[in-house]
Amino acid sequence: MAHTLRIIDVQDVTHDVKQFTLEKPDGYEFEPGQATEVAIDKEGWREEKRPFTFTSLNDDEYLQFVIKIYPEHDGVTEQIGKLKKGDSLILDEPWGTIQYDGEGVFLAGGAGVTPFIAIFRDLHENGEIGNNKLIFSNKTEKDIILKEEFEEILGDNFINAITDEEPEGDHIFLDGFADKDFLKSQIDDFDQPFYVCGPGPFNDAMMKYLKELGANPDALVFEE
Ligand SMILES: Cc1cc2nc3c(=O)[nH]c(=O)nc-3n(C[C@H](O)[C@H](O)[C@H](O)COP(=O)(O)OP(=O)(O)OC[C@H]3O[C@@H](n4cnc5c(N)ncnc54)[C@H](O)[C@@H]3O)c2cc1C
Repeated sequence: MAHTLRIIDVQDVTHDVKQFTLEKPDGYEFEPGQATEVAIDKEGWREEKRPFTFTSLNDDEYLQFVIKIYPEHDGVTEQIGKLKKGDSLILDEPWGTIQYDGEGVFLAGGAGVTPFIAIFRDLHENGEIGNNKLIFSNKTEKDIILKEEFEEILGDNFINAITDEEPEGDHIFLDGFADKDFLKSQIDDFDQPFYVCGPGPFNDAMMKYLKELGANPDALVFEE
């Protein structure tokens, strides 16, 4: 069933990522990490559905998404980037993407971190963040989504890799994607859950190295 829901707040998260808060319909339920198809409630856009992951938790009184805007696609996210409070989005029912299957290592490339946000928020709220680790790869420092929040939730288990500029502080410079040596330097146990989400080439590289290192990773291809 489709739900037409009003946007009640829009915030900038980074230079090209925005957070949208929406009304929540009665009885709408979802798990951390689940996504739904979203369309814009405007002439010509209602049939153009794209998947986005909830970043709010099921108990929250609102729905929330963190969405990267790609003006170069001339697609839905370019239009979503123009939406304001009072505009509406059309949502389908929730469906599963990446599911939390116990303490492990999360590897995210850019906006591929979005399916992990609700998982971390949920674990944090329940005091169960444990030793979960996020290795987050971005082109530049200004691309890091929710840096302060991840630092607070994960502490030293929040590892930032930067590929296209000299990194700040303890962030690590990587010339290209994380490779096997980098993964070995950051991870001491490959017999634990691994969660991978990023662009296709990022996922392909991470899956290949993790498998070679003996892991059995779970992956979500976020964009081609
Ligand atoms: C399960 C799932 C959950 C997701 N959750 C989130 C989320 O929470 N937040 C978020 O920000 N994103 C999320 N995404 C990604 C998001 O769905 C896409 O970024 C979005 O669909 C892009 O829509 P668009 O209309 O802007 O681009 P589209 O026009 O649909 O383009 C889609 C794809 O076409 C290609 N493409 C089109 N034009 C160009 C171009 N000019 N240059 C290069 N490539 C191009 C790219 O491969 C691009 O990924 C999720 C994806 C999946 C599969």
